[in-house]
Amino acid sequence: MPQIVIRQQPTELISDFFARVSYSQVVVLADENTARHCYPLVQQNIPAHRLITVKAGEEQKNLETCQHIWEQLTTLKLDRHSLVLIIGGGVLGDMGGFCAATYKRGIDFVLVPTTLLAQADASVGGKLGIDFMGFKNHIGTFCEPQATLISPAFLKTLPERELRSGFAEVIKHCLIADQPMWDVLRKKELHHQDWETLLAHSVDFKRGVVATDPKEKGLRKILNFGHTIGHAVESYFLETGNRIFHGEAIAVGMITEAWIAMTKNLLKKPELNQITAYLKQVYPAIPVPPNRNELVALALQDKKNKGNKILMALPEGIGKARWDIEVTREEINGSLDFYQSIYT
Ligand code: NAD
Repeated sequence: MPQIVIRQQPTELISDFFARVSYSQVVVLADENTARHCYPLVQQNIPAHRLITVKAGEEQKNLETCQHIWEQLTTLKLDRHSLVLIIGGGVLGDMGGFCAATYKRGIDFVLVPTTLLAQADASVGGKLGIDFMGFKNHIGTFCEPQATLISPAFLKTLPERELRSGFAEVIKHCLIADQPMWDVLRKKELHHQDWETLLAHSVDFKRGVVATDPKEKGLRKILNFGHTIGHAVESYFLETGNRIFHGEAIAVGMITEAWIAMTKNLLKKPELNQITAYLKQVYPAIPVPPNRNELVALALQDKKNKGNKILMALPEGIGKARWDIEVTREEINGSLDFYQSIYT
Protein backbone atom coordinates (compact mmCIF):
# COMPACT_ATOMS: atom_id res chain seq x y z
CA MET A 1 0.00 0.00 0.00
CA PRO A 2 1.35 3.47 -0.82
CA GLN A 3 2.16 6.00 1.82
CA ILE A 4 -0.69 8.46 2.47
CA VAL A 5 0.27 11.58 4.39
CA ILE A 6 -2.18 14.22 5.63
CA ARG A 7 -0.81 17.59 6.77
CA GLN A 8 -2.36 20.98 7.26
CA GLN A 9 0.64 22.74 5.67
CA PRO A 10 1.02 21.87 1.97
CA THR A 11 4.57 23.23 1.84
CA GLU A 12 5.83 20.81 4.51
CA LEU A 13 3.93 17.98 2.91
CA ILE A 14 5.72 18.41 -0.41
CA SER A 15 9.17 19.30 1.01
CA ASP A 16 9.20 16.25 3.28
CA PHE A 17 8.38 13.96 0.40
CA PHE A 18 11.12 15.32 -1.85
CA ALA A 19 13.67 15.19 1.00
CA ARG A 20 13.43 11.39 0.89
CA VAL A 21 13.48 10.68 -2.85
CA SER A 22 15.57 11.33 -5.92
CA TYR A 23 14.35 11.38 -9.52
CA SER A 24 16.06 12.10 -12.83
CA GLN A 25 13.24 14.49 -13.78
CA VAL A 26 10.06 15.78 -12.19
CA VAL A 27 6.98 16.83 -14.14
CA VAL A 28 3.99 18.47 -12.47
CA LEU A 29 0.59 17.83 -14.02
CA ALA A 30 -2.23 20.26 -13.19
CA ASP A 31 -5.47 21.39 -14.77
CA GLU A 32 -6.20 25.02 -15.57
CA ASN A 33 -7.81 25.61 -12.14
CA THR A 34 -5.34 23.74 -9.96
CA ALA A 35 -2.47 25.35 -11.90
CA ARG A 36 -3.89 28.71 -10.83
CA HIS A 37 -5.02 27.95 -7.26
CA CYS A 38 -3.00 24.99 -5.92
CA TYR A 39 0.32 24.75 -7.76
CA PRO A 40 1.50 28.22 -6.55
CA LEU A 41 1.08 27.07 -2.91
CA VAL A 42 3.78 24.41 -3.36
CA GLN A 43 5.74 25.44 -6.45
CA GLN A 44 8.79 26.50 -4.39
CA ASN A 45 8.88 23.16 -2.57
CA ILE A 46 9.14 21.02 -5.70
CA PRO A 47 12.67 20.50 -7.05
CA ALA A 48 13.46 21.67 -10.62
CA HIS A 49 10.50 20.62 -12.71
CA ARG A 50 8.34 21.32 -15.75
CA LEU A 51 4.61 22.02 -15.60
CA ILE A 52 2.07 20.39 -17.93
CA THR A 53 -1.41 21.92 -17.85
CA VAL A 54 -4.58 20.42 -19.28
CA LYS A 55 -8.15 21.72 -19.47
CA ALA A 56 -10.38 21.01 -16.45
CA GLY A 57 -13.51 18.86 -16.29
CA GLU A 58 -14.90 15.37 -16.75
CA GLU A 59 -15.30 16.03 -20.54
CA GLN A 60 -11.49 16.14 -20.73
CA LYS A 61 -11.04 12.71 -19.12
CA ASN A 62 -10.48 11.05 -22.49
CA LEU A 63 -7.95 9.54 -24.85
CA GLU A 64 -7.26 12.84 -26.59
CA THR A 65 -6.05 14.45 -23.34
CA CYS A 66 -3.99 11.33 -22.57
CA GLN A 67 -2.36 11.65 -25.97
CA HIS A 68 -1.52 15.28 -25.21
CA ILE A 69 0.03 14.23 -21.85
CA TRP A 70 2.00 11.32 -23.37
CA GLU A 71 3.27 13.69 -26.11
CA GLN A 72 4.45 16.19 -23.51
CA LEU A 73 6.20 13.49 -21.46
CA THR A 74 7.91 12.25 -24.62
CA THR A 75 8.93 15.74 -25.77
CA LEU A 76 10.38 16.42 -22.32
CA LYS A 77 12.34 13.15 -22.70
CA LEU A 78 11.17 11.72 -19.42
CA ASP A 79 13.02 8.49 -18.65
CA ARG A 80 11.85 5.62 -16.47
CA HIS A 81 13.41 7.17 -13.35
CA SER A 82 11.22 10.25 -13.55
CA LEU A 83 8.25 11.30 -11.47
CA VAL A 84 4.87 12.78 -12.38
CA LEU A 85 3.40 14.85 -9.54
CA ILE A 86 -0.35 15.18 -10.12
CA ILE A 87 -1.98 18.21 -8.50
CA GLY A 88 -5.72 18.02 -9.07
CA GLY A 89 -9.11 16.48 -8.41
CA GLY A 90 -10.35 12.99 -9.19
CA VAL A 91 -10.39 13.60 -12.95
CA LEU A 92 -6.71 14.45 -13.09
CA GLY A 93 -5.75 11.79 -10.54
CA ASP A 94 -7.48 9.03 -12.53
CA MET A 95 -6.24 10.25 -15.92
CA GLY A 96 -2.75 11.46 -14.98
CA GLY A 97 -2.14 8.29 -12.98
CA PHE A 98 -3.25 6.25 -15.99
CA CYS A 99 -0.85 8.16 -18.27
CA ALA A 100 2.07 7.67 -15.84
CA ALA A 101 1.22 4.00 -15.25
CA THR A 102 1.37 3.30 -18.99
CA TYR A 103 4.15 5.66 -20.17
CA LYS A 104 7.20 3.47 -20.91
CA ARG A 105 5.28 0.65 -19.17
CA GLY A 106 4.98 2.73 -16.02
CA ILE A 107 6.83 5.49 -14.20
CA ASP A 108 6.34 6.70 -10.64
CA PHE A 109 3.56 9.14 -9.88
CA VAL A 110 2.43 10.94 -6.74
CA LEU A 111 -1.10 12.17 -6.13
CA VAL A 112 -1.72 15.56 -4.55
CA PRO A 113 -5.54 15.52 -4.46
CA THR A 114 -7.10 18.98 -4.30
CA THR A 115 -10.86 18.33 -4.12
CA LEU A 116 -12.64 16.87 -1.11
CA LEU A 117 -13.86 13.95 -3.25
CA ALA A 118 -10.35 13.15 -4.40
CA GLN A 119 -8.88 13.50 -0.91
CA ALA A 120 -11.52 11.41 0.87
CA ASP A 121 -12.21 8.84 -1.79
CA ALA A 122 -10.66 8.85 -5.28
CA SER A 123 -7.04 8.93 -4.12
CA VAL A 124 -7.37 5.63 -2.23
CA GLY A 125 -7.60 2.25 -3.95
CA GLY A 126 -5.40 2.54 -7.05
CA LYS A 127 -8.22 2.77 -9.62
CA LEU A 128 -7.04 4.75 -12.68
CA GLY A 129 -8.67 5.40 -16.01
CA ILE A 130 -10.53 7.49 -18.51
CA ASP A 131 -14.00 7.69 -20.06
CA PHE A 132 -14.44 6.10 -23.50
CA MET A 133 -17.30 6.05 -26.05
CA GLY A 134 -19.65 7.54 -23.48
CA PHE A 135 -18.81 5.00 -20.76
CA LYS A 136 -17.34 6.28 -17.51
CA ASN A 137 -13.95 4.89 -16.47
CA HIS A 138 -14.20 2.39 -19.33
CA ILE A 139 -10.48 2.12 -20.07
CA GLY A 140 -8.10 1.90 -17.14
CA THR A 141 -6.02 -0.12 -14.79
CA PHE A 142 -5.15 -0.59 -11.14
CA CYS A 143 -1.85 0.95 -10.10
CA GLU A 144 -0.85 2.53 -6.79
CA PRO A 145 0.93 5.89 -6.64
CA GLN A 146 4.31 6.21 -4.95
CA ALA A 147 2.60 8.37 -2.33
CA THR A 148 -0.58 10.36 -1.77
CA LEU A 149 -0.04 13.76 -0.19
CA ILE A 150 -3.16 15.39 1.23
CA SER A 151 -3.58 18.90 2.60
CA PRO A 152 -6.99 20.34 3.53
CA ALA A 153 -5.48 23.79 2.81
CA PHE A 154 -6.18 23.20 -0.91
CA LEU A 155 -9.90 23.10 -0.17
CA LYS A 156 -10.00 26.86 0.55
CA THR A 157 -10.26 27.70 -3.15
CA LEU A 158 -12.55 24.82 -4.10
CA PRO A 159 -15.96 26.07 -5.33
CA GLU A 160 -18.60 25.54 -2.63
CA ARG A 161 -20.72 23.19 -4.75
CA GLU A 162 -17.67 20.93 -5.31
CA LEU A 163 -16.94 20.91 -1.57
CA ARG A 164 -20.55 20.03 -0.75
CA SER A 165 -20.51 17.28 -3.35
CA GLY A 166 -17.34 15.67 -1.97
CA PHE A 167 -18.77 15.88 1.55
CA ALA A 168 -21.32 13.18 0.64
CA GLU A 169 -18.58 10.52 0.57
CA VAL A 170 -17.25 11.69 3.95
CA ILE A 171 -20.77 11.48 5.41
CA LYS A 172 -21.22 8.02 3.87
CA HIS A 173 -17.99 6.74 5.45
CA CYS A 174 -19.28 7.79 8.90
CA LEU A 175 -22.74 6.33 8.37
CA ILE A 176 -21.46 2.90 7.34
CA ALA A 177 -18.49 2.63 9.65
CA ASP A 178 -18.29 5.00 12.58
CA GLN A 179 -21.15 6.23 14.73
CA PRO A 180 -18.99 8.35 17.10
CA MET A 181 -17.53 10.21 14.08
CA TRP A 182 -21.04 10.68 12.68
CA ASP A 183 -22.06 12.23 16.01
CA VAL A 184 -19.20 14.71 15.72
CA LEU A 185 -19.88 15.50 12.06
CA ARG A 186 -23.66 15.97 12.32
CA LYS A 187 -23.30 18.70 14.95
CA LYS A 188 -21.40 20.97 12.57
CA GLU A 189 -22.34 22.50 9.25
CA LEU A 190 -20.23 22.07 6.13
CA HIS A 191 -17.91 25.03 6.63
CA HIS A 192 -17.09 24.25 10.26
CA GLN A 193 -15.93 20.67 9.78
CA ASP A 194 -12.51 19.55 10.97
CA TRP A 195 -11.22 18.34 7.61
CA GLU A 196 -7.91 17.00 8.88
CA THR A 197 -9.68 14.61 11.29
CA LEU A 198 -12.41 13.64 8.84
CA LEU A 199 -9.95 13.01 6.02
CA ALA A 200 -7.75 10.84 8.24
CA HIS A 201 -10.88 8.90 9.15
CA SER A 202 -12.09 8.48 5.55
CA VAL A 203 -8.66 7.51 4.22
CA ASP A 204 -8.01 4.99 7.01
CA PHE A 205 -11.41 3.44 6.60
CA LYS A 206 -11.25 3.16 2.80
CA ARG A 207 -7.68 1.80 2.92
CA GLY A 208 -8.76 -0.88 5.39
CA VAL A 209 -11.72 -1.91 3.28
CA VAL A 210 -9.69 -1.99 0.04
CA ALA A 211 -6.91 -4.02 1.71
CA THR A 212 -9.41 -6.58 3.02
CA ASP A 213 -11.33 -6.91 -0.23
CA PRO A 214 -9.35 -5.52 -3.20
CA LYS A 215 -11.56 -7.14 -5.88
CA GLU A 216 -14.95 -6.07 -4.42
CA LYS A 217 -16.10 -9.61 -3.66
CA GLY A 218 -17.65 -8.75 -0.28
CA LEU A 219 -16.83 -6.05 2.27
CA ARG A 220 -15.85 -3.41 -0.32
CA LYS A 221 -19.47 -3.42 -1.48
CA ILE A 222 -20.46 -1.47 1.65
CA LEU A 223 -18.90 1.59 -0.04
CA ASN A 224 -21.87 1.43 -2.42
CA PHE A 225 -24.35 2.66 0.19
CA GLY A 226 -26.32 5.50 -1.45
CA HIS A 227 -24.89 4.64 -4.85
CA THR A 228 -27.55 2.36 -6.40
CA ILE A 229 -30.31 4.97 -6.37
CA GLY A 230 -27.69 7.75 -6.39
CA HIS A 231 -26.12 6.57 -9.65
CA ALA A 232 -29.57 6.05 -11.19
CA VAL A 233 -30.50 9.65 -10.32
CA GLU A 234 -27.14 10.94 -11.61
CA SER A 235 -27.52 9.04 -14.90
CA TYR A 236 -31.11 10.20 -15.29
CA PHE A 237 -30.10 13.86 -15.04
CA LEU A 238 -27.13 13.30 -17.35
CA GLU A 239 -29.46 11.83 -19.99
CA THR A 240 -31.84 14.79 -19.73
CA GLY A 241 -28.94 17.22 -20.12
CA ASN A 242 -29.32 18.68 -16.60
CA ARG A 243 -26.20 17.44 -14.90
CA ILE A 244 -26.26 17.32 -11.10
CA PHE A 245 -23.12 16.78 -9.05
CA HIS A 246 -22.13 13.27 -7.99
CA GLY A 247 -22.42 14.00 -4.25
CA GLU A 248 -25.83 15.65 -4.69
CA ALA A 249 -27.09 12.43 -6.29
CA ILE A 250 -25.46 10.32 -3.56
CA ALA A 251 -27.27 12.41 -0.95
CA VAL A 252 -30.57 11.45 -2.62
CA GLY A 253 -29.30 7.86 -2.63
CA MET A 254 -28.42 7.91 1.07
CA ILE A 255 -31.82 9.30 2.09
CA THR A 256 -33.82 6.89 -0.06
CA GLU A 257 -31.69 3.85 0.76
CA ALA A 258 -31.77 4.69 4.49
CA TRP A 259 -35.58 4.70 4.23
CA ILE A 260 -35.44 1.25 2.60
CA ALA A 261 -33.16 0.09 5.44
CA MET A 262 -35.78 1.33 7.91
CA THR A 263 -38.59 -0.58 6.18
CA LYS A 264 -36.42 -3.72 6.41
CA ASN A 265 -35.91 -3.16 10.17
CA LEU A 266 -32.20 -2.51 9.71
CA LEU A 267 -32.50 1.09 10.84
CA LYS A 268 -34.71 2.58 13.58
CA LYS A 269 -37.05 5.48 12.81
CA PRO A 270 -35.10 7.98 14.99
CA GLU A 271 -31.89 6.97 13.20
CA LEU A 272 -33.53 7.58 9.83
CA ASN A 273 -34.80 10.94 11.07
CA GLN A 274 -31.32 11.92 12.22
CA ILE A 275 -29.78 11.02 8.84
CA THR A 276 -32.46 12.76 6.76
CA ALA A 277 -32.48 15.89 8.95
CA TYR A 278 -28.74 16.40 8.46
CA LEU A 279 -28.67 15.59 4.75
CA LYS A 280 -31.65 17.86 4.16
CA GLN A 281 -29.82 20.69 5.87
CA VAL A 282 -26.68 20.22 3.72
CA TYR A 283 -28.21 19.36 0.31
CA PRO A 284 -30.91 21.18 -1.63
CA ALA A 285 -33.88 19.20 -2.94
CA ILE A 286 -33.34 17.45 -6.26
CA PRO A 287 -36.58 17.18 -8.28
CA VAL A 288 -37.40 13.48 -8.32
CA PRO A 289 -37.93 12.33 -11.92
CA PRO A 290 -41.64 11.95 -12.70
CA ASN A 291 -40.88 8.80 -14.71
CA ARG A 292 -40.13 6.37 -11.91
CA ASN A 293 -39.89 3.39 -14.29
CA GLU A 294 -36.94 4.99 -16.01
CA LEU A 295 -35.18 5.43 -12.70
CA VAL A 296 -35.86 1.83 -11.67
CA ALA A 297 -34.58 0.71 -15.10
CA LEU A 298 -31.37 2.65 -14.45
CA ALA A 299 -31.04 1.09 -10.98
CA LEU A 300 -31.41 -2.32 -12.63
CA GLN A 301 -28.35 -1.57 -14.79
CA ASP A 302 -26.20 -1.18 -11.68
CA LYS A 303 -22.97 -3.21 -11.85
CA LYS A 304 -23.61 -4.65 -8.38
CA ASN A 305 -26.83 -6.42 -9.34
CA LYS A 306 -27.13 -10.11 -10.06
CA GLY A 307 -29.47 -11.18 -12.86
CA ASN A 308 -32.71 -9.25 -12.55
CA LYS A 309 -32.29 -8.57 -8.83
CA ILE A 310 -31.48 -5.13 -7.46
CA LEU A 311 -28.89 -5.54 -4.70
CA MET A 312 -27.95 -2.74 -2.31
CA ALA A 313 -25.60 -2.00 0.54
CA LEU A 314 -27.73 -0.71 3.42
CA PRO A 315 -26.92 0.67 6.88
CA GLU A 316 -27.54 -1.61 9.82
CA GLY A 317 -27.99 0.93 12.56
CA ILE A 318 -25.68 3.93 12.23
CA GLY A 319 -22.00 2.99 11.88
CA LYS A 320 -22.45 -0.45 10.32
CA ALA A 321 -23.66 -1.73 6.96
CA ARG A 322 -24.57 -4.91 5.11
CA TRP A 323 -24.37 -5.62 1.40
CA ASP A 324 -26.12 -7.69 -1.30
CA ILE A 325 -29.56 -6.97 0.13
CA GLU A 326 -32.32 -7.51 -2.40
CA VAL A 327 -34.59 -4.53 -2.94
CA THR A 328 -37.82 -4.47 -4.94
CA ARG A 329 -39.04 -1.88 -7.44
CA GLU A 330 -41.90 -1.08 -5.03
CA GLU A 331 -39.41 -0.30 -2.29
CA ILE A 332 -37.51 2.05 -4.62
CA ASN A 333 -40.79 3.77 -5.52
CA GLY A 334 -41.70 4.10 -1.85
CA SER A 335 -38.28 5.54 -1.02
CA LEU A 336 -38.67 8.21 -3.71
CA ASP A 337 -42.09 9.15 -2.28
CA PHE A 338 -40.40 9.45 1.10
CA TYR A 339 -37.64 11.63 -0.39
CA GLN A 340 -40.23 13.94 -1.92
CA SER A 341 -42.19 14.12 1.33
CA ILE A 342 -39.27 15.30 3.45
CA TYR A 343 -38.56 18.29 1.20
CA THR A 344 -42.19 19.50 1.07
P1 NAD B 1 -12.56 17.28 -10.81
O1 NAD B 1 -11.25 16.64 -10.79
O2 NAD B 1 -13.18 17.56 -12.13
O3 NAD B 1 -12.49 18.64 -9.98
C1 NAD B 1 -13.63 19.47 -9.90
C2 NAD B 1 -13.35 20.90 -10.33
O4 NAD B 1 -12.64 21.56 -9.30
C3 NAD B 1 -12.47 21.02 -11.57
O5 NAD B 1 -12.93 22.10 -12.34
C4 NAD B 1 -11.10 21.34 -11.01
O6 NAD B 1 -10.29 22.05 -11.91
C5 NAD B 1 -11.45 22.17 -9.81
N1 NAD B 1 -10.52 22.15 -8.70
C6 NAD B 1 -9.89 21.07 -8.19
N2 NAD B 1 -9.25 21.40 -7.06
C7 NAD B 1 -9.44 22.72 -6.87
C8 NAD B 1 -9.03 23.63 -5.86
N3 NAD B 1 -8.37 23.22 -4.78
N4 NAD B 1 -9.39 24.92 -5.98
C9 NAD B 1 -10.14 25.32 -7.05
N5 NAD B 1 -10.58 24.51 -8.02
C10 NAD B 1 -10.23 23.21 -7.93
O7 NAD B 1 -13.67 16.43 -10.01
P2 NAD B 1 -13.60 15.53 -8.68
O8 NAD B 1 -14.95 15.65 -8.11
O9 NAD B 1 -12.43 15.80 -7.85
O10 NAD B 1 -13.39 14.07 -9.27
C11 NAD B 1 -14.36 13.41 -10.04
C12 NAD B 1 -13.69 12.26 -10.74
O11 NAD B 1 -13.18 11.36 -9.74
C13 NAD B 1 -14.60 11.45 -11.64
O12 NAD B 1 -14.04 11.33 -12.90
C14 NAD B 1 -14.70 10.09 -10.95
O13 NAD B 1 -14.81 9.04 -11.87
C15 NAD B 1 -13.39 10.04 -10.21
N6 NAD B 1 -13.41 9.15 -9.04
C16 NAD B 1 -12.43 8.21 -8.95
C17 NAD B 1 -12.40 7.33 -7.89
C18 NAD B 1 -11.31 6.31 -7.79
O14 NAD B 1 -11.38 5.44 -6.91
N7 NAD B 1 -10.29 6.38 -8.61
C19 NAD B 1 -13.38 7.42 -6.87
C20 NAD B 1 -14.36 8.41 -6.98
C21 NAD B 1 -14.35 9.26 -8.08
